[in-house]
Amino acid sequence: MKASQFFISTLKEAPADAEVVSHQLMMRAGMIKRLGAGIYNYMPMGLRVIRKVEAIIREEMNRAGAVELLMPVVQPAELWQETGRFDKMGPELLRVKDRHERDFIIQPTSEEVVTDIARQELRSYRQLPKNFYHIQTKFRDERRPRFGIMRGREFTMKDAYSFDRDAAGAAVSYQGMFDAYKRIFDRFGLQYRAVAADTGAIGGDLSHEFQVIADTGEDAIVYCPTSDYAANIELAEAVAPAAPRAAPGQALAKTPTPGKSTCADVATLLGLPLQQTVKSLVLATDELDERGDIVKSTVWLLLVRGDHDMNEIKVGKLPGLKAGWRFATVAEIEDHFGCKPGYLGPIGLKKPLQVIADRTVAGMHDFVCGANEADFHFTGVNWGRDLPEPTLVADIRNVLAGDPSPDGQGVLAIQRGIEVGHVFYLGTKYSQAMNATYLDANGKPQLMEMGCYGIGVTRILGAAIEQSHDARGIIWPASIAPFAAVLCPIGYDRSPEVKAAADALHAELLAAGVDVLLDDRGERPGAMFADWELIGVPQRVVLSDRGLKAGTVELQGRREDAASMVPLAEVAALVK
Ligand code: ATP
Ligand code: MG
Ligand code: MG
Ligand code: MG
Repeated sequence: MKASQFFISTLKEAPADAEVVSHQLMMRAGMIKRLGAGIYNYMPMGLRVIRKVEAIIREEMNRAGAVELLMPVVQPAELWQETGRFDKMGPELLRVKDRHERDFIIQPTSEEVVTDIARQELRSYRQLPKNFYHIQTKFRDERRPRFGIMRGREFTMKDAYSFDRDAAGAAVSYQGMFDAYKRIFDRFGLQYRAVAADTGAIGGDLSHEFQVIADTGEDAIVYCPTSDYAANIELAEAVAPAAPRAAPGQALAKTPTPGKSTCADVATLLGLPLQQTVKSLVLATDELDERGDIVKSTVWLLLVRGDHDMNEIKVGKLPGLKAGWRFATVAEIEDHFGCKPGYLGPIGLKKPLQVIADRTVAGMHDFVCGANEADFHFTGVNWGRDLPEPTLVADIRNVLAGDPSPDGQGVLAIQRGIEVGHVFYLGTKYSQAMNATYLDANGKPQLMEMGCYGIGVTRILGAAIEQSHDARGIIWPASIAPFAAVLCPIGYDRSPEVKAAADALHAELLAAGVDVLLDDRGERPGAMFADWELIGVPQRVVLSDRGLKAGTVELQGRREDAASMVPLAEVAALVK
């Protein structure tokens, strides 16, 4: 490939809406181009990476015995009505009508369609197990599309679906996919963790997320450095022991504090360090959709001073609060939580609270809260109303770094991650809803046992860049780089010797199977090098008149600070 034939479009500045480094660099490197909120063109340079990601996934899925097919992006609503998801799924599901006013959906995932195929095609136990997969465009009308293609609305996913005779078979299929995912993420060259994830309504313990480790990740992972324990913090929260809880409207304890009623008094009373820096407490109630995603949050915000009189509570504003969120009045808070005017504070939490501007905590009743009344402190207050089951989704946590690991093998650490893959045992949830049965050896119909397995193909690009970049740009792992090597001739347009050598080396490398690009644009060295460092090609070969006189070229790995002189004849062996 020659640069003049290919399409290269780099930018000095990233657009203002690019919050994270991967989004900035992908835009600057000309890999993606925004078309609308959460909708991107995959430009030629980016598409090469996507294709390499897909190729690795395909190879490993095929190796694991999965069979590729392709299911439509536009799917009739009838199937989604059979499982109830057409109505139950929130606004993330994009519903459209055709010219006959018939309902369709743009697929966010394909359980319904694949189960429809299975119930028609897999009739006998002899045909099981079977695992179908495809790599297909998805659409999810995300509430907050962001981070470029890491949380797009249109994106590409590999989704696989296994069908088994029984639960034991499904567990084997699950393990097969789990192992395949490990091979896939190893080949991507990414630092990742497979963590236990919540199985929601299905139950059981067969759900794992593959999380690429990155500080900018939206997920938090709890793990034990001295054992195998690793879980999404949401699951860790779910299994954390519930705090003792008073009856609605009651407190666990009421202690007289004559003449005094300050935060400091309460803290002293409970033996907790009072953080003067804690100025505010944010509580929110979230409405969740079927998928467990937040569709609406109401934030109840109370600003309190570090050490204050109970009458000084103020309801205030948090700068940068997201659109659609609002602040409650004191009266609303009291009414909603059934609490008396008084202190609502960080009492009973193990760590100081932070202002939580994004997602917060729902299901307040698990809080062990403090409240004041003139001359009294209450602890363990139950706000007097039963809220839905708690979904703890942010930084107010039951599980904190330093807590003992549930397996008793050490203490917990927390790090952030990006969910790039998810394997999930479904049981008979879909086969039951859609009556997907096969005939067993005795000729009796049995429900198929299912599993589903997703990988965010396009999200992988963002995750890889978050993990691997420097001030100059992207550093692609070799296995998914857009090109393995770039030839940068200096003076291609004016030196016949350089041009001849570059053309010959280009042809030689192509013949040797190296995915190489020849930069024949005649750019100045500085600009040319900056482009390829930004784009992140792992190997650069510089050809110049001076070097060629000595029969050498300069070879430099993207991570290396300096080039090494290499005899022209040895280049092919070195960049392979
Ligand atoms: P998230 O928690 O990030 O919203 P999810 O749990 O909703 O993801 P799954 O339904 O498990 O996603 O889908 C499988 C994979 O698809 C995810 O692990 C992720 O890699 C990818 N994915 C999901 N949503 C998006 C998106 N909006 N943009 C890009 N990739 C996505
Ligand atoms: Mg989601
Ligand atoms: Mg998720
Ligand atoms: Mg998931």
